[in-house]
Amino acid sequence: MSKTKTAVVTGGASGIGLEIAARLLGDGYRVAIIDRQPAALAQASRTLGDHGAACLAVEADVTDGEQVRAAFSAIRERAGTIDVLVNNAGISRDSRLVNMSEEDWDLVLDVNLKSQFLCCKESVPGMIAAGYGRIVNISSRAWLGGFGQANYSASKGGVVSLTRSLAIELAKDGITVNAIAPGIIDTPLLQSYSDETRAKLAKTVPARRVGSPADVAQAALFFASEQSSYITGQVLYVCGGRSLSSPSV
Ligand code: NDP
Repeated sequence: MSKTKTAVVTGGASGIGLEIAARLLGDGYRVAIIDRQPAALAQASRTLGDHGAACLAVEADVTDGEQVRAAFSAIRERAGTIDVLVNNAGISRDSRLVNMSEEDWDLVLDVNLKSQFLCCKESVPGMIAAGYGRIVNISSRAWLGGFGQANYSASKGGVVSLTRSLAIELAKDGITVNAIAPGIIDTPLLQSYSDETRAKLAKTVPARRVGSPADVAQAALFFASEQSSYITGQVLYVCGGRSLSSPSV
């Protein structure tokens, strides 16, 4: 890399975000992880190891505009312009529509979609001034639709539309905006399921295994790199072929 680039990873204290942060640090980026729980951030910092000023842990709820603005202002102060933004924070609150509460609709849309809008707003002006930027938005294979996932699918479909619109808007400024659509990935979320359920889920994947955070991180590193400069507005599935077939395969 020509100079040390600064990357921000939201939801970087756990699962996929933590792995992406580790890989970016390994590739020589300065990395700021944003997450909402101080204890999780402290644990993630220990996991990432001692990188001195190259690794920042910043507490914020990414659904809250004030907190997002304060977090990015602190990061810019300590690490300069943000070159790479990975919008990864996400949650699910699955249930059939008839049981889905308005609160769970709003919460999932706010965490998974509004947060990406807020974090882009904070990162893009500096990227435009620098004539360079990489935005990687984590969507999900579930944006294609999922039983009991009206809120989650809608939020992740929104991520795809946000990605495509920003890609068109920002291409002339040297900024690429791409999305990753993971399938079933082995993170704390999945580890909370029973072995039986996990085995059943793995059978729905043509590759006959669930993915690892590293599978997703590799894709994120590619979109974050200078080498992907002519690729924008794309959705890359990291799902062992699950986007190609029905879940009953
Ligand atoms: P994890 O729960 O392991 O990590 C998500 C992180 O985001 C957690 O640390 C979580 O904190 C944090 N977070 C949640 N809400 C907020 C908030 N409001 N402000 C700040 N941080 C927040 O999940 P995964 O690593 O599995 O998921 C990462 C992304 O990948 C998500 O967008 C998810 O939708 C997507 N994805 C995951 C798949 C999978 O199979 N695992 C499949 C497809 C997509 P806390 O623990 O406090 O909630």
